[in-house]
Amino acid sequence: MTTPAKPKISRDVVWREARELIWLHRGRLGLGFGLMLVNRAAGFVLPGSTKYLLDKVLPPRLVHLTSAELALAGHRLGLVAMAVGAAALVQAATSFGLSQILGVAAQRAITDMRRAVQSHLIRLPIRTFDATQTGQLVSRVMNDAEGIRNLIGTGLVQLVGGLVTAAVAMCVLVSLNWRLTAMTMVLLILFAGGMAYAFTKLRPIFRVRGQLNAEVTGRLVESISGIRVVKAYAAERRERLAFAKGANKLFRNVAASMTGISATTALSAVVVGVIGTLLIVVGGHDVLAGRMTVGGLMTYVVFTGMVAAPLIQIAAIGTQITEAFAGLDRIRELRSWVPEDADDANREVAGVIVGHVKFDDVTFSYQPGVPVLRHISFDAPAGSTTALVGSSGSGKSTLVSLVMAFNHPDSGRILIDGRDLEGLRLRNYRSRLGIVLQDNFLFDGTVLENIRFAQPGASDAEVLEAARVAHCDEFALRFELGYQTIVGERGVKLSGGQRQRVAIARAILADPAILILDEATSSLDSESEALIQEGLARLRAGRTTFVIAHRLSTITSADQILVLEAGEIVERGNHEQLLGLDGRYRKLYERQYRQALDRYVNPGEELTGAAHLRP
Ligand code: ADP
Ligand code: MG
Repeated sequence: MTTPAKPKISRDVVWREARELIWLHRGRLGLGFGLMLVNRAAGFVLPGSTKYLLDKVLPPRLVHLTSAELALAGHRLGLVAMAVGAAALVQAATSFGLSQILGVAAQRAITDMRRAVQSHLIRLPIRTFDATQTGQLVSRVMNDAEGIRNLIGTGLVQLVGGLVTAAVAMCVLVSLNWRLTAMTMVLLILFAGGMAYAFTKLRPIFRVRGQLNAEVTGRLVESISGIRVVKAYAAERRERLAFAKGANKLFRNVAASMTGISATTALSAVVVGVIGTLLIVVGGHDVLAGRMTVGGLMTYVVFTGMVAAPLIQIAAIGTQITEAFAGLDRIRELRSWVPEDADDANREVAGVIVGHVKFDDVTFSYQPGVPVLRHISFDAPAGSTTALVGSSGSGKSTLVSLVMAFNHPDSGRILIDGRDLEGLRLRNYRSRLGIVLQDNFLFDGTVLENIRFAQPGASDAEVLEAARVAHCDEFALRFELGYQTIVGERGVKLSGGQRQRVAIARAILADPAILILDEATSSLDSESEALIQEGLARLRAGRTTFVIAHRLSTITSADQILVLEAGEIVERGNHEQLLGLDGRYRKLYERQYRQALDRYVNPGEELTGAAHLRP
């Protein structure tokens, strides 16, 4: 299995991605930024008025005031109160607007990103899905995009806003008392250093978290989709332990990052304490020595808070942005995997496909060096039926996966109507395919919707006609809700034979040029088999059909039979020719003929599974 190439993502690339994202949402971010400036400016009113209030409005000894002075002080007090009140209102309004605008922008960015990742994901080749757990991919689409909120949302704007506030407050501090400020600065620089160190420790933890999340989700989804097997083998305990192990790993990761975050919080508390002490000791002395007014000291204290608060905030916001980057990183990786239709634009529009399929010396391997198909050549004219016979694991399903362009030859060519399949537009070509498998996938919806899946534009009459031809009426009309019956996830509420008939109806509606039946009848009881054979016969008429079947009845009427053995065609011809060869096919035939006779003698015995075809 070739896993998708994992190119090393450089920081630059992620930065560019982040810049693009920011640029894309520049309108709202710009607006948010403006609001943030107003918000921060309003935030300066209360601390800014402290000095004025203490030094000018509220004199230390009220007893000596004349009534005129008292009245003036009262008037000034009223003005300050109004200014502070107004500023508070402005702050409230702007922070409401800020979180609305940026919150919505962030959610939109997440939605856009999820859509982009999902649309990319669904275009990736089958081998990517074979190699990656479903839940892991789900986690990429849903969780990894989530982090963007911190980049587009309030995170980035708050970070910048905090820095602006800190810078302005710093200027005020210098003008109030430069000596004290120099001392505070030293402490703050030490603090910033501590933060930077903490981040280098935290970053890798966040990187791992997304991966762990994906792994745990992956395992969880598997155990839920395989719930029948889990329960049948009483493996609940094992699944519980496996999940617990993953969940604990995730917990340890989160706990580790929380330790880091708590440490930075503690560090900031220490810094705040030391600065506070410094202010009281040094500032208090300066006031006593007449170098500073009481109002000046109080203002100084408040503004120091305004410098420290954003620096402390940066710790929290920094971790959020680090998380966003880690998510972008993983999304970026997924988006670097090349979709299977990447160069569809350069490919030929298939036009009308009549369905002449030709394999020309095709070799294919899942893992390099282990070919599963070797030098396969055959010709399947339009409208003919080719049966593939061979023991389990001989490569029959792999061969038809190449016809569906799910996999691609390592060497040799597949020609469709004389044109190389690799040169045809995928979407275009696949729209001419129909497929019925042993275990058909139905989506959770009604029977009708599942049939219509092949042709979303089909009318009810067309869908019902296809259903009738496929003998769906026999079971669907017995349901209370008829064709509106919900089939459940994967179609669990239908029997195997019923699902099969829905799949046949789907294929009939698709009206494909090339039809693939992979063991479509191997798990059925004889009654539904008769109905299904009839449906299949109607379906096959006029289409190039590849049929993999254990039932000889399907095979004997084929135009050509290819007998596969370990990835090679060992015999070919029609039924009579192959019987005449007296080789591998004849052995298979006689074994089954004998079993069919046995069944005739002992009608209870059922002919199912692959066992009767094994050598
Ligand atoms: P058949 O349909 O004849 O039973 P398959 O074509 O399914 O056989 O499988 C042929 C061989 O390829 C088997 O040995 C199988 O283990 C291997 N194989 C099938 N699918 C994959 C896959 N997705 N990845 C790797 N090996 C695979
Ligand atoms: Mg198979």
